[in-house]
Amino acid sequence: MATNRTPIMAGNWKMFKTPADTTAFFDEFKPLVASATHCEIVICPPFIDIPAAVQAVEGARIEIGGQNLYWEKEGAFTGEISGPMLAAAGARWVIIGHSERRQYFGETDETVLKRTKAALEHGLKPIVCVGEHLDEREAGKTEQVLVAQFQGGLAGLTAEEFARVTIAYEPVWAIGTGRTATPEIASEAHKVIRAEVAKKFGGEAAAAVRILYGGSVKPANVKELMAQEEIDGTLVGGASLKADSFAAIVNFHR
Ligand code: PEP
Repeated sequence: MATNRTPIMAGNWKMFKTPADTTAFFDEFKPLVASATHCEIVICPPFIDIPAAVQAVEGARIEIGGQNLYWEKEGAFTGEISGPMLAAAGARWVIIGHSERRQYFGETDETVLKRTKAALEHGLKPIVCVGEHLDEREAGKTEQVLVAQFQGGLAGLTAEEFARVTIAYEPVWAIGTGRTATPEIASEAHKVIRAEVAKKFGGEAAAAVRILYGGSVKPANVKELMAQEEIDGTLVGGASLKADSFAAIVNFHR
């Protein structure tokens, strides 16, 4: 972990938990991370849980995010949520282009770019997900995939916009499978992404951008992942649902 990039430990609750579950989670979680000043803590619950989550974290060093947003401000887009709506609800972050969104809901690099621009326009901090499928890795195409996702999803931002983006490298074969990328595999992928950032936005932007790792992060493997210079935090699915396991991840340095 590079000392000049504050780590971000982010939880993605996917489609789990009600508002009551959310309140119960934070009652347990907050005391466990009360002394964690070494990192930023973000939880991205389902949309309907955001008000309960925002209320629960008032006064704590924890911020709330959405798991997606639509790029229009408002309109006839049944089932969608806009940037101004998320911001008004108290969300500060938003996950964009998660592999489940790409796989099940038809997201593309083009829509990732639109959503990222919309998030930035409305003052939200985007966590943009990239990552290869198993067959792509096995075919030796990891670098090609990551470069294409960067080119299509992020290279269209201005330098000023890009400075407010966090990237999450999430190899699809490691998400929810219990199969974690080794710290070395994750580092290599992060280097590929950082090199693309350097080419497009310059060395300073590359040194500053935070790249999180996601894919079966658990209390048992977080320390070795976070020991990597290239890994600036984690995006955690399953293990963020329980207060004690996510707190152990947040407190990886102990
Ligand atoms: C995720 O949902 O972004 C994720 C990485 O899930 P898990 O930690 O369960 O693999």
